[in-house]
Amino acid sequence: MRSDANTAGPMTDPVPGPRSESVDVSRETPPPMDDTPIGRAAQQAVEAMNRAGEGLPRPEQTRVMVVANQKGGVGKTTTTVNLAASLALHGARVLVIDLDPQGNASTALGVDHHSEVPSIYDVLVESMPLADVVKPVPDVEGLFCAPATIDLAGAEIELVSLVARESRLQRALTAYEQPLDYVLIDCPPSLGLLTVNALVAGAEVLIPIQCEYYALEGLGQLLRNVDLVKGHLNTNLHVSTIILTMYDGRTRLASQVADEVRSHFSAEVLRTNIPRSVRISEAPSYGQTVLTYDPGSSGSLSYLEAAREIALRDPNVQQRHEQSVQQLQQQQQNSTMSEGTQ
Ligand code: ATP
Ligand code: MG
Repeated sequence: MRSDANTAGPMTDPVPGPRSESVDVSRETPPPMDDTPIGRAAQQAVEAMNRAGEGLPRPEQTRVMVVANQKGGVGKTTTTVNLAASLALHGARVLVIDLDPQGNASTALGVDHHSEVPSIYDVLVESMPLADVVKPVPDVEGLFCAPATIDLAGAEIELVSLVARESRLQRALTAYEQPLDYVLIDCPPSLGLLTVNALVAGAEVLIPIQCEYYALEGLGQLLRNVDLVKGHLNTNLHVSTIILTMYDGRTRLASQVADEVRSHFSAEVLRTNIPRSVRISEAPSYGQTVLTYDPGSSGSLSYLEAAREIALRDPNVQQRHEQSVQQLQQQQQNSTMSEGTQ
């Protein structure tokens, strides 16, 4: 696995004007017209939101993000696929690894995952090269998926007796030759060997938290597991990002949960909350992300903004981005001054 940061072009910047604390776009637009290719529509939505000339740089090294929370139904898969599509639409090369036997990420990305398809099970258990299972995602350029089939349900048990059972994904990823900017790993709702493999393979943990009662329940256990893996198997591991999902700004509960999460984890929590949105929940049944299903919807815009925040959080990227913005402003100032003197 390598990153082609030096040869890569700039990622684009989706949101014009000053940014608010969180994205709050209540208008939802209808699904794209049948005669409009959805990939093009999504790309146009991103381009329409560009600030002229200001690009979003790619990370210098591949960022491997483990999307984990052993609580079920909090938005792990939804966040994985929509963030991955957002990053790809910003111009990055992104791989989604579906590590959940339910195969929901593969479904949402429109990637075939019936039982005969070579899948992440073959990589983990049969030592198949990752390159042999990775498929391009239809409609989103630069987005790829290593699908999960139902076979993966047995992998938790089959892995127990295998050599290097905790680091098989990490080995496969290291041997993967294609250039990548981001790898997002969608974990199952458990802390078994599949999740441990993800935690060994990545440096960053991304935790989606649903804005509901008991939001922080079980989080302590996840954080203890992260510490254990960090202590024994992967010293680079850390929780880099927390994202609040299914946020309903009309309820006091949602803002209470958000305040509580922010009081525990201030630096890690993204400013962008993901709103509860019908469009987000409808998209997977069409084998699509919300970015292609309804590019102008509140869900799509908030995932694009969350992706932008994540891209700028890499400290080196932040520095380079600020430098390029300064250069751009300087150039614009110079050209205005030279126009004034003519
Ligand atoms: P599991 O633990 O089973 O893997 P998960 O954590 O991956 O679940 P998702 O499958 O992403 O969670 O989401 C659970 C349900 O909530 C899905 O039906 C999804 O469509 C819906 N959902 C997720 N995010 C949103 C949102 N922002 N607005 C509305 N519905 C959402
Ligand atoms: Mg899931």
